[in-house]
Amino acid sequence: MRGIVSMNDMEETQACIVCKFGGTSMADSESTERVAEIVKSNPLRRIIVVSAPGKTENSEKVTDLLIECHREIEACGKCDQTFPLVAARFLQIATDTKDAERELAKIKSQMENSGQYDFCVSRGEYLSAYFFAKRLGFAFIDAAELIRFHRYDGYDSKESEKLCRAKLKNGYAVVPGFYGADETGAIVTFSRGGSDITGSIVAGAIKADLYENWTDVDGILNADPRIVENARIIPKMTYGELRELSYLGASVLHTDALVPLIKNRTPLQVRNTFCMSKRGTVIYPCLKEPEKKPVTGIVGKKDILVLFIHKIGMNQQKSIVRKVLSVLEYYGVSFEHMPSSIDAVNFLIPKSSINDAIRSAVLSEIKKSIRPDEIKFIDRLSIVSVVGRNMYQCVGVAEKMFAALAREKINIRMIIQGCRELNIIAGVDEDRYEDAIRALHRAFLEEETPS
Ligand code: ASP
Repeated sequence: MRGIVSMNDMEETQACIVCKFGGTSMADSESTERVAEIVKSNPLRRIIVVSAPGKTENSEKVTDLLIECHREIEACGKCDQTFPLVAARFLQIATDTKDAERELAKIKSQMENSGQYDFCVSRGEYLSAYFFAKRLGFAFIDAAELIRFHRYDGYDSKESEKLCRAKLKNGYAVVPGFYGADETGAIVTFSRGGSDITGSIVAGAIKADLYENWTDVDGILNADPRIVENARIIPKMTYGELRELSYLGASVLHTDALVPLIKNRTPLQVRNTFCMSKRGTVIYPCLKEPEKKPVTGIVGKKDILVLFIHKIGMNQQKSIVRKVLSVLEYYGVSFEHMPSSIDAVNFLIPKSSINDAIRSAVLSEIKKSIRPDEIKFIDRLSIVSVVGRNMYQCVGVAEKMFAALAREKINIRMIIQGCRELNIIAGVDEDRYEDAIRALHRAFLEEETPS
């Protein structure tokens, strides 16, 4: 924590924890009551960002119901079939039924009049924040006044940060996640799960002491629990590690949510609304610590396609890689790694980003453009990765990794070390993927004491 009062642009800003509560935390009156207790238990929890109510046993996510409402409005101008399901969710949550009925009727007619998709689907967050502010006795501040988009250029970080600083520097407020407005006042949403982004924009902008992201898991695990039985919560890590872990599959919060936090050096804590006694995972901009455990987590990804290109003398021809990249760019194919050797280069491409038609177009365009000796796609590869902030100064991490895979008779088909020395990646056959993850977890993390 940075103390009770921190200085920001030479103006006094109240110390603050920004909290974001996800859909499961806001799903019904029982869980919102629990959230209210969490907020009230620490007066530094000043700015609260909320999602729309999530799925329950008897109902869909409110955002999904609102998408259905929009479909109905497009078809017949009204949402009489689906909106009552939305209203029922909020009537169960709201503390003042009369006020809730009024507000819900107003929102329904605004949705029908506007018919705009983003406006309709964002009303779950709007109403969630509106009713929760009443429950807490905090101010309600509409995200349309804080998060700025431009019609053609998308999200405007500079303007949004300015607005957040001006309106949230002091006092207690609840803010809807997931959306903002453009210069004309039209509502614009982030992609699904975007309330995480709102929370981190707000936390970064007001230089919060901490961004707490409350969800329904105990924290970030050191391996995929569907593969590794005794995967454990990682108590602390750095943003660098989180980036490496999450792009390969450890998904806890929206990837775009990390940028404002990293930029503003705001620590993040992932916690479980339903188990307050657990400390979750804290993510810091950097960590200086005496113990030097080399590996923090094991992750990986299946469904990797390798574009293999071989051409003798490739290393001496300056434009080869640029030409290949132009073809990939033209067809909208993104790649994640590019190991190379003197006469060959591989592009590791997630299968989901390329279909059969694009595959053959890419092959024929590259053939025309660089006349390779050999070019092909190689299927059925997966990658497994050991991630750790301290491995750059530890001897023997690679040895231990390769020995663990060799013990299980897993053939390593490719090796990549991340440029920041935060990870070592091995390409293995897809049908040995789970074995590889388990072998690495056993070798590096099984001795760990629980958090
Ligand atoms: N309610 C939106 C969704 O379901 C945004 C969010 O929850 O963050 O994606």
